[in-house]
Amino acid sequence: MTIKRYQYTITGVVQGVGFRPFIYRLAVEHNLTGLVYNAASGVHIEVQGEAASLVAFDEDIVSQLPPLAKVVSCLREDMALASCEKSFVIEKSFSRAGHSVFISPDVAICSQCLSDITSPENRRYQYSFTNCTNCGPRYTITRSIPYDRPKTSMACFPLCPACQKEYDDPLDRRFHAQPNACPGCGPELWATDKQGQDLAKNDKAIQYTVQCLHEGKTAAVKGLGGFHLVCDATSETAVSALRRAKQRKAKPLAVMIPDMETAHKIAHINKAEEHWLTGNKRPIVLCEKKNSDFPAPCVAPDTGTIGLMLPYTPLHFLLFSHYQALCEDRLPVLVMTSGNFSSEPISLGNREALERLHSLADVFLLHNRDILIRCDDSVVQILEKKSSPEKKDTTQFLRRARGFTPAPVFLSQKGPSVLALGAELKSTMCFTKEDKAFVSQHIGDLENLETFGFYKEIKSHLQDILQVNPVAVVCDKHPDYMSTAYAGELGLALYKLQHHVAHTYAVMAENKFDGACIGVSLDGTGYGEDNTLWGGEVLLVDNEALTHSRMAQFLAIPLPGGEAAIREPWRIAQSFLHRLGHLEPEGRPWPWLEHGAEASSLVTQALKRDINAPLSSSCGRLFDAVSAMLGLVHEISYEAQAAVLLEAIQDKAETYAYTFPVLEQGDMFVFNSLELFTQVYEDWKKGVHAGVISRRFHLGLIQGLARAVCRFSGQTGIKHTGLSGGVMLNKTIATLLPEAIVRAGGIPLTHSLLPPGDGSISLGQALYGMRKVQAGG
Ligand code: ZN
Ligand code: ZN
Ligand code: FE
Repeated sequence: MTIKRYQYTITGVVQGVGFRPFIYRLAVEHNLTGLVYNAASGVHIEVQGEAASLVAFDEDIVSQLPPLAKVVSCLREDMALASCEKSFVIEKSFSRAGHSVFISPDVAICSQCLSDITSPENRRYQYSFTNCTNCGPRYTITRSIPYDRPKTSMACFPLCPACQKEYDDPLDRRFHAQPNACPGCGPELWATDKQGQDLAKNDKAIQYTVQCLHEGKTAAVKGLGGFHLVCDATSETAVSALRRAKQRKAKPLAVMIPDMETAHKIAHINKAEEHWLTGNKRPIVLCEKKNSDFPAPCVAPDTGTIGLMLPYTPLHFLLFSHYQALCEDRLPVLVMTSGNFSSEPISLGNREALERLHSLADVFLLHNRDILIRCDDSVVQILEKKSSPEKKDTTQFLRRARGFTPAPVFLSQKGPSVLALGAELKSTMCFTKEDKAFVSQHIGDLENLETFGFYKEIKSHLQDILQVNPVAVVCDKHPDYMSTAYAGELGLALYKLQHHVAHTYAVMAENKFDGACIGVSLDGTGYGEDNTLWGGEVLLVDNEALTHSRMAQFLAIPLPGGEAAIREPWRIAQSFLHRLGHLEPEGRPWPWLEHGAEASSLVTQALKRDINAPLSSSCGRLFDAVSAMLGLVHEISYEAQAAVLLEAIQDKAETYAYTFPVLEQGDMFVFNSLELFTQVYEDWKKGVHAGVISRRFHLGLIQGLARAVCRFSGQTGIKHTGLSGGVMLNKTIATLLPEAIVRAGGIPLTHSLLPPGDGSISLGQALYGMRKVQAGG
């Protein structure tokens, strides 16, 4: 019999996820002695015993890993035998800077906890704050590391003897579960009216709330990462009232349904979508609606898709179990939208919610477990790849937050720690640490002061839980962004990176691609290097040489009225017509004239005299122009609405594609958007159906881009093409463009870990900053 001793150092998500008790159980099972503890470098294990048992132990670490644990590296070394060791023990945690363990994202309730709260004999029956080492809140209740109860918002709830016993027992599912609680010792739930008057407690509070929802009222419900505004999604009256109060005219609202059975009644759901809906991260998943008028027409009026989400906290499950009991007359579908006014961050504290949301909600369902950092629901969509060789569906993020943050994006190499501040809209920030990039949750639009406050909160929170000291900061080149001004205040070495170059860096970083790449940035707006607005660019980016140049752009078109043209896309359509020499309607009147001819003639004057009409090569603005030309939208009420409507209207049976030629202009190429627009205009004049025109436009854009990429690839010998920018959220472009590039012999790189829009800018900036520091500035 050979006795051996090994030591392991394991890094990754191995704290607060039941990792040490898991090791303890394995060691006991295999008759091994030794110890396990959390060290600065990761989880440290020493095991001693018979060689065969050690082999089995080694295999079981990998094959039986607890659901939330993620091993990044596992180093095993031989050790000298210890004498007189009788048992296996879990030793106390060490707390030191420079740790290599990460805080887990928040996780949906597990099946065992769900069974606890639904079993009448269980002491946690109907208890809203039930969790264990396999599930529950993490990131949003943690103040700093190491992840121990005193460092979380559970610090003010001393454990009762029964909970303490679970907490101390290595064989219990709740061993060292920091948020462990029960009705005897944990947080409480209560309902108030909008004045903050208490109405009911615990399960009575839930009953009261669902009664209000059933009557068509709106509830503000405190969740995991902030408040939700909730109402009956099948009631057009209730949903319209919520929209009016929230000042959210048409932007789609997500709904929560109790189970997959209900989900299937609302939408067509494929395997990949079901996987996300029922998994432990529980993002909102955009699925194809079965009936546009259901649950209520105004839930998502502009698109054929609807955002679905399944319950992820015990409270959600209890809410639905009570609500379903009332719903004999209707399907249990609830709108669940962030508790905020449009453009403000989601509400966090009880008092704050009562102040900010009192005009929005009739009843408040509150509790006393503090949320330490806001985190919205994540949103994903699945791209079905029908004709790609591997035929693997990919996930695309529209918003990355709860369930994902603060899990890192792994980079191709280690580097110095930097802080990247992102862009302005749909902002995120990013800290790097060695070969990991920690991209924050979705923050929102920084032009709003409240959001900027949230932005700064995230900076200090992330820095606390990551224990990093960045040596440099990176921001956008835009001179007026809040983040640009903020970067200057930090007193660190400062780098600025052009917006679309950052987009390309981001998609390269996500794919761990190093070297030279053709970057296709199809975007809304970004401050260009020539002081115009960019957004339809083909760049040559080398992330090793740290060089970039612009190879091609969409033809720059004046935006009459600047910002006003983004709100009123018809101005851009008229700008295209103006450039084409159509100064007034010929035959069919322009759709926007029915809203008054005066504004239109003012735009004509402005274009003639070139007053306040900044040039933009944005691809997003081209979508806006086409959408307005077809009369789909006059004034938008949310970002990208015109493009969303244009995408939704496509007649997918149509196969003809408009031409989208590239012109050579000096040492630059220009995509002739005017020519593309003329074809739209001519067909529109002839009365061709808008769905057909939209399809021809989409296909033309895709074919033109793929052909040009192929040409640039031939000229440069570079095969990889990074596709990034907000337009990549258009499912038609996101699915067909990479396929067209593959057919043309190229290798597309796309986003699958972060949103292709500005949510990934901070990652691109971060990679650039790391490399700049390494190159000596
Ligand atoms: Zn659990
Ligand atoms: Zn207790
Ligand atoms: Fe962008």
